Amino acid sequence: MRSPITTARSLADYEAVTPDDQMAALYSTADDLGDVRVLHLNSTATGGGVAEILHSLVPLSNDLGIDTDWQVMDAEESFFEVTKAMHNALQGQDVTFTEEMEATYRRVTERNATALDGQYDVVVLHDPQTLGMARELKDRFPDTRIVWRCHIDLTDANERYLQAVVDDVRRVDHAVFSRPEYGRGVDVPTSIIHPSIDPLTDKNRPLDREELAVERDRLFPIEFGDDSPVITQVSRFDPWKDQFGTIEMYRRIKDAVPGAQLVLAGGMADDDPEGREVYEEVVAATADDPDVHLLTNQPDTTIDFLQRESAVVVQKSLREGFGLVVSEALWKRTPVIGSTVGGIPLQIEDGKNGYLVDPDDVDGAAARLERLLADDDLRRQLGERGRETVRERFLLPRHLLDYTELFLGVRDGANDPNEPRASRTDADRS
Ligand code: UDP
Repeated sequence: MRSPITTARSLADYEAVTPDDQMAALYSTADDLGDVRVLHLNSTATGGGVAEILHSLVPLSNDLGIDTDWQVMDAEESFFEVTKAMHNALQGQDVTFTEEMEATYRRVTERNATALDGQYDVVVLHDPQTLGMARELKDRFPDTRIVWRCHIDLTDANERYLQAVVDDVRRVDHAVFSRPEYGRGVDVPTSIIHPSIDPLTDKNRPLDREELAVERDRLFPIEFGDDSPVITQVSRFDPWKDQFGTIEMYRRIKDAVPGAQLVLAGGMADDDPEGREVYEEVVAATADDPDVHLLTNQPDTTIDFLQRESAVVVQKSLREGFGLVVSEALWKRTPVIGSTVGGIPLQIEDGKNGYLVDPDDVDGAAARLERLLADDDLRRQLGERGRETVRERFLLPRHLLDYTELFLGVRDGANDPNEPRASRTDADRS
């Protein structure tokens, strides 16, 4: 197991974007919590939303005075092939679960749990990759509260896999989902917490004039002009992210908007062996169009620039846990066309800060894209509202407060299993 290096954060730097009552609640809840030691455990230090969140949440939590570590499992390729199959099955794909796969999963999770040293009061296991560690951890550290933080949508899960997960979840003290529907069949106390973005990272902070010029040059020959609007999707290359649907949508508007360009930016996460394959397929499908640009492993400032300077951002996923990229783009005042899956409808209000379409509705998405590209005022209006949506509900301090309250609850053994605690963002809405 290894501890990723994170950059220090100071809560004071977030004051400008955090409501006063939230700031006060953070300090008082942390005070109530006293000396707890917390560990977040996941399966990759880079790539994907979970790593993105932990890079910010962990140092900010320490700044608040909560002693918080982050460790990443040590695992080989064969394990990640099994966990990617699990991930796909839990999102609804028909995948067989062989005894050999189960044995690989058990061997690696047990090995990691055995290797864990240090005594923690709360251990947060992120996603199915780490969940298997719960058995061993409970035996070794009976006083430690174990929380499973599931970031994926289980509503359509393949039953065989869901059963395996539900069996393991019995070993944890508490489970956390992004939406109440995701936790069906889970019979431990649950909470709902919405993810967040960090407004101060290189990915999300404002870029100054010089930085904008540097990024513009770097991205040449992509042009960001009134007659050459850029449509961007930022996602791992993964079948669920539906880059092919986005390409199809772009093709349908190309005649009407000949200067339009499509950018598909995607990294390959360490724990995602499918990425290379999907990327090659996307390369083959777009090789004949010089206005489609594929970018891999770009620095955060480039992702920031793309989300900021594109006319429209698209996230037409077929399944999505939350979809941090939606909040990232909305924060930068860029309207998003997203699908009605997972956490996307939590972030997009149709017609208000973007548009929602069914995941397989390419025509509907293309019609909305064409409309947005034709109307600068509409884009600006939606963009302003998107900024507000994120400021109110999806920034890091609110997320940290939800976790702090959760730790207080699990430490005291609170929470009724039949009544998921709402995330503060839900409470704020009412
Ligand atoms: N990301 C990135 N570069 C890429 C692709 C993705 O930095 O080329 C980041 C993206 O900005 C976001 C995260 O990876 O912060 C993806 O999170 P999301 O919740 O959208 O999807 P996940 O990959 O977790 O399914």
